[in-house]
Amino acid sequence: MPKYTLIVPIYNEEETIPEMYRRLNSLMDRLDGSCELILINDGSKDKSIFLLRDLHHKDPRVCYLSLARNFGHQVAVTAGLNFARGKAVIILDADLQDPPELIPEMIEKWQQGYQVVYAQRTKRHKESWFKRFTAYGFYRLLKGLADVDIPTDTGDFCLMDRCVVDILNAMPERNRYIRGLRSWVGFQQTSVKFERSPRYAGEVKYTFRKSFSLAINSLISFSKVPLRLSTYLGLFSAVFALFMAILVLYWRVHETKSPLTGFATIMIAVFFLGSVQLISIGILGEYIGRIYEEIKGRPMYTLSEIMGFEQEKVEN
Ligand code: UDP
Ligand code: MG
Repeated sequence: MPKYTLIVPIYNEEETIPEMYRRLNSLMDRLDGSCELILINDGSKDKSIFLLRDLHHKDPRVCYLSLARNFGHQVAVTAGLNFARGKAVIILDADLQDPPELIPEMIEKWQQGYQVVYAQRTKRHKESWFKRFTAYGFYRLLKGLADVDIPTDTGDFCLMDRCVVDILNAMPERNRYIRGLRSWVGFQQTSVKFERSPRYAGEVKYTFRKSFSLAINSLISFSKVPLRLSTYLGLFSAVFALFMAILVLYWRVHETKSPLTGFATIMIAVFFLGSVQLISIGILGEYIGRIYEEIKGRPMYTLSEIMGFEQEKVEN
């Protein structure tokens, strides 16, 4: 069994794979124990899978899984965790935005007795102001709303001890927000700081839609505050309506010509209440949709190719 497992999700990363392997290879040579590198092809449409096959033939430490379609980053990492055999498991991105050179520092902390060592960004280089602004706001919102303490500005780049990985693997939930689940597990956790460099090559694979859906997912998975929001909105509009009723009554008696007692007032009230109700139904729907997803009990992913593990398989 290897001492360390490196997990790297791959989605259309043909431009970054050679350089990523070069940097990880020199890192693996320097580590104090045996190593396996698990690459998860998340339904790439470019030549990534051919590069993975090549790497596996050249270097037996490289194992790979091919998901039968694009299941998304979080599921790809979950698949990697399911197959990881190391005593310490490290997750990092393929685009070298998570510097492999930070891993020895993480391992040092693990050897000091921490079960989770996550990397925390102090700076983002060459990312758009929009991405920086939304990420900054989102992590703080999540921290405010979530029931567990999810540290701000941390991604999935982390080292986890075997015991934490076993717990994550035993969790049946399908909507996975790994950063959150990692915090939920507990144990001794610590951070190492780093500055996030720009993507090595290629396009960003996390489109705005994917990032937005991950953000909603994390809020719904780790907070019940949105559900309570409809109660608060309901209470607010009830108080507002009562206040308006008293006001209208007052106008009827004292200022019969007031323009605020007619059609406009009714329209505003109808629209306001209508939107409060629709927002509430929407929030409820988000939760119910997730219950439905969980209850269906479908497997989280399907595999079309497994190489480098005991049961090897290729399906076409
Ligand atoms: N990725 C993936 N499946 C997806 C989208 C992304 O496996 O559907 C991988 C991608 O190949 C990369 C990592 O997730 O290794 C992070 O993606 P990216 O660098 O585009 O996102 P960002 O740096 O903006 O978080
Ligand atoms: Mg990236």
